[in-house]
Amino acid sequence: MRKRVLIVGGVAGGASCAARLRRLDETAEIAMFDRGPHVSFANCGLPYFVGDVITEERKLLVATTDLFRERFDIAVRTRHEVTAIDRSNRTIAVKDLHTSVERTEAYDALVLAPGAAPIRPAMPGIDLPGIFAVRTIADSVGIRTWITERRPRRALVVGGGFIGLEMAENLAHRGLAVTVLEKLPQVMPPLDPEMAEPVRSHLVAHSVTVHLGDGLARFEAADGRIAAITEAGARLTTDLVILAIGVRPETALAKSAGLPLGPRGGILVDAHMRTPDPAIWAMGDAVEVRDVITGQEVILPLAGPANRQGRVAAESICGRTREFRGVQATAVVGVFGLTVASTGASEKGLRRAGVKGFETVYLHPGHHAGYYPGARPIHLKLLFSVPDGRVLGAQAVGLEGVEKRIDVIATMIQMGGSVHDLAEAELCYAPQFGAAKDPVNLAGMIATNHLSGDMPLADWRQIGSAEHLVLDVREADEFAAGHVPGAIHLPLSQLRARHGELPRDRPIAVYCQVGQRGYYAVRFLLQHDYRAANLSGGWTTYQALRAAGALAPAAA
Ligand code: FAD
Repeated sequence: MRKRVLIVGGVAGGASCAARLRRLDETAEIAMFDRGPHVSFANCGLPYFVGDVITEERKLLVATTDLFRERFDIAVRTRHEVTAIDRSNRTIAVKDLHTSVERTEAYDALVLAPGAAPIRPAMPGIDLPGIFAVRTIADSVGIRTWITERRPRRALVVGGGFIGLEMAENLAHRGLAVTVLEKLPQVMPPLDPEMAEPVRSHLVAHSVTVHLGDGLARFEAADGRIAAITEAGARLTTDLVILAIGVRPETALAKSAGLPLGPRGGILVDAHMRTPDPAIWAMGDAVEVRDVITGQEVILPLAGPANRQGRVAAESICGRTREFRGVQATAVVGVFGLTVASTGASEKGLRRAGVKGFETVYLHPGHHAGYYPGARPIHLKLLFSVPDGRVLGAQAVGLEGVEKRIDVIATMIQMGGSVHDLAEAELCYAPQFGAAKDPVNLAGMIATNHLSGDMPLADWRQIGSAEHLVLDVREADEFAAGHVPGAIHLPLSQLRARHGELPRDRPIAVYCQVGQRGYYAVRFLLQHDYRAANLSGGWTTYQALRAAGALAPAAA
């Protein structure tokens, strides 16, 4: 008899699983149910459809019902909601949303890929017209229609994460004056605050009003407009609201079937994406998976992991033993031409997870050789464990070449690589693409120099303490334009002649503009028996830390 595999949810995880299943097993009977009108659509393209960058709705349909039937012999039932699972009889209840007729379908294997729902907090005014979430094509059509018919002038985006910022850009592209309201004191919550700071200033430079450190309390109707009242009491009057404050895994079906949920509220699965019920698999935004850096269970609502998990589940259903490796949160977003990317753990994430023994480097190299026209800085932060140098995470922000560097570091993390591997990585170089020492190599070299003791790193967060002497080795005009409070000035160009003015009984924390001259100074000082360490990233990092409020008061 043909094995009967039923799939709940037909987008990233479900559709990947279905297609892989067919490639592995020509004999299985495969049916996929989705309560929406489409399967396999590009959720990730929705902000750009709102922004009219993608102009045709059909371009969002990655694969159609017909394609699944004709190419893969997979039966797709759209507008069919799975309402219950009877695990003992291995059946599901399915409601045809066209007719409201319910029927029962039997399975040998059941796949749950129901995704996540946007959080819509229960608060006064939440159901006022003009307040939208962005999850489905229908949501984006609704926003487009609102823009065309109501001609709104202002938009409020609640939430400064990936989707919020993509929506901010696209609404600005449609000519709206956009405000972003974010409860945390920074945009882009996955990043460390100082790395999110250039993103905030870039938004402001593109006329987006950024309202940080204040949450949404309620909405009120205001003469045909919407007033958003914040927890701090601000009243933001607008014509359109986008709620982008995160998602909640769709677990109601699994929960009512008695499948266990994990501490984060996602469906529990093993490395084969199998739930504790041997006939049920789950994947995507609805499940908890292991973070490979911290070892903790997390819910990571991203398309890449959902797709890979779909493949792993298909293999498991077909009796293969491939395992899902876990996630490391590699992600990228574009905001008004700025690229913001990260992989692995952030510094705050490591601290939250109680991880100790790690170090941080900052650097700001050009995205290609400086002598070739058009080099743009990449602001890069690397986290690695001490003393073994294992790479734990990286964040980068810049106009060009950002995601390429993060992808290299992400691959290194997957392979269990260290900063020594980053330093040695052989990467593409021609003047318009990179440098003989690529930013990835430089990050590895700075870190290995720290581990070997060739260039100890000083901690920016400790520079306010009386113990350290802070030494600025930039030229006089740079120092005059701004410097760290209390820093003494001795330019690198005069260090050889004047180093005798420096004390030998105090640690010296050296900085320059981005870290390179500081490195030369530290090497000189160490070889002349001073206790010197470099403040990595230099004045550029200092300014970002200060703007993000991440320094001790005495240093800010
Ligand atoms: P989904 O793709 O959400 O699919 C779940 C499907 O299950 C839905 O169609 C739902 O209707 C259906 N369903 C649920 N319950 C039932 C039921 N009981 N019966 C029948 N059907 C049901 N990720 C990235 O990596 N990069 C990006 O750039 C990116 N951009 C995004 C932009 C937006 C606006 C959004 C919303 C998401 C974005 N994501 C991005 C996240 C990514 O889309 C999701 O992580 C991914 O789609 C999750 O896949 P999934 O299969 O778990 O769930």
